[in-house]
Amino acid sequence: MSYIVFARKYRPQRFEDVIGQDHIVKVLKNAVKNNRIPHALLFSGPRGVGKTSTARILAMALNCENVEDGEPCLKCKSCRDIMEGRDVDVVEIDGASNRGIDEIRDLRDKAGYVAISAKNKVFIIDEVHMLTKEAFNALLKILEEPPEHVKFIFCTTEPFNVIPTILSRCQRFDFKRLPIVEIVKQLKIICKDQNIEYELEGLNLIAQMADGGMRDALSMLDQIALMHKKITYDDVNSIFGRLDTYFFVKLVQKVIEKDLKGIIESFEELLMKGFDIETFVSEFANYFHYLTLLKNDITTDEISSLHPEIFEKAKEQSKHFSNTTLNQITRELIELSNKLKFASNRKMVVENQLARIPFMIDGRDIDEIIRLLNEKKFTEKKIVEKKIDERIEKVETKVEEKKDDEKEDLVFEKFIEFCKRKDPVVGTALENGDLLERKKDYIKISFPDSLEYVLKEDKIKNLIKDFNEKINLEILFFKNVKDDNKIINNGLEKNENVLKIIERFDGEIVY
Ligand SMILES: [Zn+2]
Repeated sequence: MSYIVFARKYRPQRFEDVIGQDHIVKVLKNAVKNNRIPHALLFSGPRGVGKTSTARILAMALNCENVEDGEPCLKCKSCRDIMEGRDVDVVEIDGASNRGIDEIRDLRDKAGYVAISAKNKVFIIDEVHMLTKEAFNALLKILEEPPEHVKFIFCTTEPFNVIPTILSRCQRFDFKRLPIVEIVKQLKIICKDQNIEYELEGLNLIAQMADGGMRDALSMLDQIALMHKKITYDDVNSIFGRLDTYFFVKLVQKVIEKDLKGIIESFEELLMKGFDIETFVSEFANYFHYLTLLKNDITTDEISSLHPEIFEKAKEQSKHFSNTTLNQITRELIELSNKLKFASNRKMVVENQLARIPFMIDGRDIDEIIRLLNEKKFTEKKIVEKKIDERIEKVETKVEEKKDDEKEDLVFEKFIEFCKRKDPVVGTALENGDLLERKKDYIKISFPDSLEYVLKEDKIKNLIKDFNEKINLEILFFKNVKDDNKIINNGLEKNENVLKIIERFDGEIVY
């Protein structure tokens, strides 16, 4: 017997076998039972989640001689013919390859005839968004006056590219990405059935890489099972060349330790092994996103499928970053991955960003370090020492402030809580500022200028207006870029604290 790939061998045959789309299956089964299937249905959703399989099951259920509880019997002639693809009344068209208007005209002619051997004539058009405009229009003509006993099932990964006049004539069903646990469950069943040994971590990694698509997961399992007796994490990782999450655990550890040299070396090593720069950047962004989720105790499917050891380490790492910093790093990496498409010296662009990240932890600008890096001088030791000094200084100041704070009214804390409800981004940012001065309802606070776009003056003013207590908030932004401009501001330039902060951060008064 010839070899049948898993994706085909384990394709669902009945509604109850369709995984992870219960919301759709239930509606369809009921529609079959009550004989209320609309003329046109649109199945939309990501690739490989069961759209076409469900369409075939529906076609069988519509024509089965012994439908039971909305399910096809799989035994009658009609069921068997459809399963084997030789039923003339169930026509499958691939929108991606049959793009011409002729095919649709042909389809229109076919639709005109009464079904030959089955009760219903069913047209399944896969990737319907790929049809040409002319083909769409021809299709529309049929849909305007659909013949009795003709059903259309359109499948698409891009519903937004299906013209509205078609969309409006379809009952739409949105298929979901499959959760990792569901994919792993199915992989386990198949492994057991095929006598394939596995490591759970290996199956987890397959499911993670399949990004919610069962078909992709099964074809990966297929490939590995052909080469190896056992599905291991390492094999999956090496065959599909994805960056190991553990690589990022180690990389972020270097970020936390401000081991600039180690970071750049790891990156170069990766390139030597032939890894793609863009993939690296987007996976790195992804890892920082994980850290954000872990820091805030948010459990998603991806988080719960992390290897326990990685989970623990990443959770610990997340404590070294503020939410604002994690957000900023993730955002910058995403921006970088977009920029890379047009960059000429991609390696240098990425190295610059990598050198920036460790110093974003304490919110200081690092143009100077980037300059040094470009000159290929790794002088990180001195910088680390300086940073450590600064941090100690900062901690001490904070402790002193705290003592005074205790006597103060909690108006600022209340305001932060208020902002967090109204505008969580602003609230979180405010929480992470450096408090400069505090007297009753007067608070002076400073932020790196990278937060200027978050803490816009009009936004803050509106929040203060809506806040039901009196608060007088003064916000300063500092930046480290050399700026020789004289400071001219209403009296602030004489304020001792302001001068101190300006001197320390080489900053300027914004408002
Ligand atoms: Zn049947």
